[in-house]
Amino acid sequence: MIESSVWHPFTQHGLGEAIPLVTRAEGAVLHTADGRRIVDAISSWWVTTHGHRHPRIVAAMREQAERLDQIIFAGWTHEPAEELARGLRAMMPDSLTRVFYSDSGSTAVEVALKMALGYWLARGEARHRILVMEHGYHGDTIGAMSVGARGVFNRAYAPLLFDVETVPFPAAGHEQATLGALTRACAGGEAAAFIVEPLVLGAGGMLVYPAWVLCEMRAICAAAGVLFISDEVMTGWGRTGTLLAGEQAGIVPDILCLSKGLTGGAVPLAVTMASEAVWAAHYSRDRATMFFHSSSYTANPLACAAAVANLAIWREEPVLARVADLGARQAARLAGLAAHPAVSGVRQIGTIAALEIGGRDGYLSALGPGLLRFFGERDLLLRPLGDTVYVMPPYCIGDDDMDRVYAAIGEACDLIAAGKF
Ligand code: PLP
Repeated sequence: MIESSVWHPFTQHGLGEAIPLVTRAEGAVLHTADGRRIVDAISSWWVTTHGHRHPRIVAAMREQAERLDQIIFAGWTHEPAEELARGLRAMMPDSLTRVFYSDSGSTAVEVALKMALGYWLARGEARHRILVMEHGYHGDTIGAMSVGARGVFNRAYAPLLFDVETVPFPAAGHEQATLGALTRACAGGEAAAFIVEPLVLGAGGMLVYPAWVLCEMRAICAAAGVLFISDEVMTGWGRTGTLLAGEQAGIVPDILCLSKGLTGGAVPLAVTMASEAVWAAHYSRDRATMFFHSSSYTANPLACAAAVANLAIWREEPVLARVADLGARQAARLAGLAAHPAVSGVRQIGTIAALEIGGRDGYLSALGPGLLRFFGERDLLLRPLGDTVYVMPPYCIGDDDMDRVYAAIGEACDLIAAGKF
């Protein structure tokens, strides 16, 4: 442990939380300066899909660093950005013809929102309202917070957030209420776009809903001409069992946000992919228009090279077979805990497994911080969302490490059930 002046995100410095110093990582394992071997059971915030330091991604970044490190990306281009765009077009739905680069999931969402507003402005329609789903999470920048759930984590910034219209989460037995609310919200010609996490709401508690609901929601938006923004920042790159979660509902959005696993989790990069109609609306022949969004490091060549390598891994290695295998291994272990008296619910979709321990009372629940410490003491990187413990490991995690993760969760459940936690 070190003395430090670093200010960490989502960390309770006030409680004097010890901060481990990580010096090396490979696969699903982190090594710390004080010799601990830690299992990264959440893929370092859901990014390291293939595990830490996949050799092809490391090599691609190293080679790129020898040629071109950084170049302004506004009217200038470079080969990794072009190759990545070609690769994404080949892999992603045909109708998503345009690739806009940014640096994080949050910025991919900001860009999507700006594209949606720009689209309607260019068409001369006053559609400004964004529709969102209850419990959604889309990042921590101002726009991304505006379209996400309001809670303790962003209450202080409420005056900065814009108004949205929220449809209820389609909990089991309440799907029609969601569809009815979305239909009403789309009526009246004021809605610009609906943004949603497909099939599973991540930071909202790993809340899963059925593919048919996603399919119906897509149809409702299409019928009303409301743009459909699919935020696959978490779900993309195989997390739910398919390359994109939207595939399971047979849907194609107007705008798609991707990040996290885009570079295999090695370096920051995001893309917002848009339909030709969204792109074309921004560039008419009689107006000198442009899209007003950039950042200094947009489409950094090293990051693009890492993402090109990730796409090659997807093309040439059996990634979806690994995903299916991990899903089955998660299911087997989850089943062993489902009936535990401390567990009030289990959920799984693809490689994502979640257990509700105790009641669901949000981020500052009594159990959350205690569980975080408990898992840390057992050399596990697991960050419960309130009382929801979830496991989302790299696809390469070994059985022994999975066993350690689930043994610790079981131990925590035993203590909780015995009133000793
Ligand atoms: N959208 C979704 C669905 C996410 O899960 C996240 C992050 O967890 C984001 C957006 C924000 O991504 P980032 O943390 O890279 O800004």
